[in-house]
Amino acid sequence: KAVVAIVGRPNVGKSTIFNRLVGERISIVNDTPGVTRDRVYSKVEWLTTEFNLIDTGGIELGNEPLLVQMREQADIAINEADVIIFIVNGRDGITAADEEVTKILYRSNKPVVLAVNKIDNPEMREDIYEFYSLGFGEPYPISGAHGLGLGDLLDRVVELFPAHDGKLENEDALHFSVIGRPNVGKSSLVNAILQQSRVIVSDIAGTTRDAIDSPFVFDGEDYVIIDTAGMRKRGKIYESTEKYSILRALKAIDRSDVVLIVIDASTGIIEQDKRIVGHAHDAGKAIVIVVNKWDTIESDQEAMRKFEAEIRAHFLFLDYAQIVFLSALTKKRIHTLMPQVRLASENYSKRVETSVLNDVIMDAIAVNPTPTVRGKRLKVLYATQVAVKPPTFAVFVNDPDLMHFSYRRFLENKIREAFGFEGTPIKILARKRG
Ligand code: GDP
Repeated sequence: KAVVAIVGRPNVGKSTIFNRLVGERISIVNDTPGVTRDRVYSKVEWLTTEFNLIDTGGIELGNEPLLVQMREQADIAINEADVIIFIVNGRDGITAADEEVTKILYRSNKPVVLAVNKIDNPEMREDIYEFYSLGFGEPYPISGAHGLGLGDLLDRVVELFPAHDGKLENEDALHFSVIGRPNVGKSSLVNAILQQSRVIVSDIAGTTRDAIDSPFVFDGEDYVIIDTAGMRKRGKIYESTEKYSILRALKAIDRSDVVLIVIDASTGIIEQDKRIVGHAHDAGKAIVIVVNKWDTIESDQEAMRKFEAEIRAHFLFLDYAQIVFLSALTKKRIHTLMPQVRLASENYSKRVETSVLNDVIMDAIAVNPTPTVRGKRLKVLYATQVAVKPPTFAVFVNDPDLMHFSYRRFLENKIREAFGFEGTPIKILARKRG
């Protein structure tokens, strides 16, 4: 998928436009406890094209001076994006800070679309002409506050996407990535996995800006491991900002079927783990939790049970994810990992038969009748699986508003019990039956 970045000096309206384009409010997502969210990266659909949008303004760069921050944000955009949306404020004219950003963008070879924000009505359109002088071609007048001009802007952005985008090498292989905070042992784990596979197809197959893709064969199956950890040595920014490494992890997650979340047994779970886990969960991918450095723990069944309980308590919403305890260093229990990756992936792509699904749902309803809200009872008519990756079920009902979180959760559990969806999230959509 193509990546689009929004850049511009502070207060030109980057975040407003980001939220407009993403099409949802930040505050509404709040049903998964324990997740810290920062929306700097999100999926956008425009007509038939999907792309990923980055709000570089949302990337905090510590207490550095504004100018340095702007420069680094522009750098990030240049490194990450296929197309850059450069936003200026139509009411202020061209400022010194705009010129600073312009200079940095010139040096990149990335296509830039210039958007002049706060053009809230047609009379203000004259204000955009001076921005031609920045040298990015035709400026697009927009109003983030009123949602004007965004369609034309997006049309232009999509035109500039690289032609062969979306075509992957090794497309049929199971793609998985290894994520986690620094020093949990991601690189060590990647090495250990590649060592245990009998056939490494080639050392390094694809190297993107963000990750090294290593294809390998294990038990006769094709895999590609997407390694972001190995890229750390590439530059100052890559090292210095946590959010930036999250961004890189998100892009790896996006290309994965299965995400391995690595937790360090020697330190336990900390806040930063939660943030990373939240992002992985949001992406809707299959997940395996890897507790690494298990060699540092006096290992017995009781220790495992305790650690598992801690994980479950912190990540309630990840109850479907299997947990593997191992040591990347000593290779202890490393053989338990790949079977879980395979299982998670199979479940992630699993289809169930409609007739069996409906039997399961009707049995569930017989056990636990549908709720009644303000005198109106939820009626479930029919269910069918509408997608895989992750498995997604449409449940047709008399009124979708009556399908509350707890009942949805109940149905999800019954579907899981019946079909076994270990390792993968599943989605239930309540649809009105006309
Ligand atoms: P990354 O930042 O997540 O890629 O972590 P690294 O793979 O670079 O590992 C960070 C440190 O943890 C290194 O010093 C490793 O040797 C050490 N380490 C990695 N895996 C293990 C393990 O299973 N047990 C122990 N004791 N140390 C480990």
